[in-house]
Amino acid sequence: MNDYDVIVIGGGLAGLTTALHLSKYHYTIAVFERLEYPHHKVCGEYVSMEIVPYLESLGVSLPKNIQINKMLLSTVNGNSISANLPLGGLGISRYALDYALYKKAILQDITIISEHVTSIRFEDHVFNVSDTNGVNYTSKFVVGAYGKREALDKKLNRGFINRKSPWIGVKAHYQLDTFPDNMVELHNFRGGYGGLSKTESGAVNFCYLVSYTSFKKEKNMERFHQNVLSKNPYLNKFLNESQMLFEKPLSIAQISFGKKSTVENHVLMCGDTAGLIHPFCGNGMAMAVHSAKMVAELIHHYFTKPNYKRHQLEKDYNTQWHRTFGKRIWVGKQLQGILLNETISHSAMQLINNSPYLVSRLITATHGRPIDPL
Ligand SMILES: Cc1cc2nc3c(=O)[nH]c(=O)nc-3n(C[C@H](O)[C@H](O)[C@H](O)COP(=O)(O)OP(=O)(O)OC[C@H]3O[C@@H](n4cnc5c(N)ncnc54)[C@H](O)[C@@H]3O)c2cc1C
Repeated sequence: MNDYDVIVIGGGLAGLTTALHLSKYHYTIAVFERLEYPHHKVCGEYVSMEIVPYLESLGVSLPKNIQINKMLLSTVNGNSISANLPLGGLGISRYALDYALYKKAILQDITIISEHVTSIRFEDHVFNVSDTNGVNYTSKFVVGAYGKREALDKKLNRGFINRKSPWIGVKAHYQLDTFPDNMVELHNFRGGYGGLSKTESGAVNFCYLVSYTSFKKEKNMERFHQNVLSKNPYLNKFLNESQMLFEKPLSIAQISFGKKSTVENHVLMCGDTAGLIHPFCGNGMAMAVHSAKMVAELIHHYFTKPNYKRHQLEKDYNTQWHRTFGKRIWVGKQLQGILLNETISHSAMQLINNSPYLVSRLITATHGRPIDPL
């Protein structure tokens, strides 16, 4: 039987959270995920506390041995400040986090289909979804939670997909036992910035975002590490003292921070598929989970309230999404502009050095309040 109440495309944080929330109401749900679990992902792996109580209320068991409550920020030449993180977070690898949600989904009898979705059609109030093998599935709702950029975006004719994006993300785990458990460090370098923080396994995650032009000039990753990253004294020390645990770093290209639609041809987009905040804010995962909660609640509302129509649901989702995330995305964009401008970032650092309160205010502006548990 290939007919479901809800089909979710993408089994990352947004997709699995949507499915777990809806499974509490006993809907039939299928999640399509093209990769086998568990798997690593390019991500800073700082999980804001704003989503922890909610994920736990879905029955997801999270490792809590790495509690992060301090931040250190440095400019290209190594000027630095540190600040307390008002809400704080956990250091959890995506390998462990996505897998924890997946394991809970299996226990909840959610159908996980290890296939790549290639097309979505909506006709006569029914969705038709096909995978790479040409198998067809139907549902009343489709949730698009397939991440930053996908061939499906082209098929759905989404505006942002035709604009090239200059950003590349790179990540690997390293061994460095002296790295503090409670710290997330953010270091600037020419053309980008990188984050360092510990994960539940004790490994330090080093994840950076860099413009393609800065990367291309150095021809390969080794030279980039030597000639660009190592110019920041903090990164130089880290790279010299640590040992990489991955065979080679993971990377993704074409990371787009452009505006996206929240609903496309009746597909409800959530997580990065609806919009991505600049990574240094450490809030993308929180937004993915929070948007999943919104989608799940609205779908449940639709199924339980006979007069609640699809077009109203879509309108409500769009309004809620922008009301909840609009400001933090905007603040993130302004801060990223400052961070990546060497002259301005140097002056900004002097300014905030004299006002630790301002740092806390800025961090708070890129985060939300803890979301209510289910
Ligand atoms: C460099 C960088 C650093 C970051 N650091 C942080 C951080 O420290 N803290 C933080 O909170 N956020 C961070 N983020 C943001 C965070 O990684 C994302 O916001 C988060 O992963 C979004 O989750 P998602 O479920 O929307 O997407 P994803 O986690 O990307 O999940 C999408 C899933 O869909 C699957 N998929 C795609 N297409 C298909 C298809 N056609 N069929 C089936 N499956 C499909 C993919 O395999 C994938 O598993 C960072 C982002 C970047 C780029």
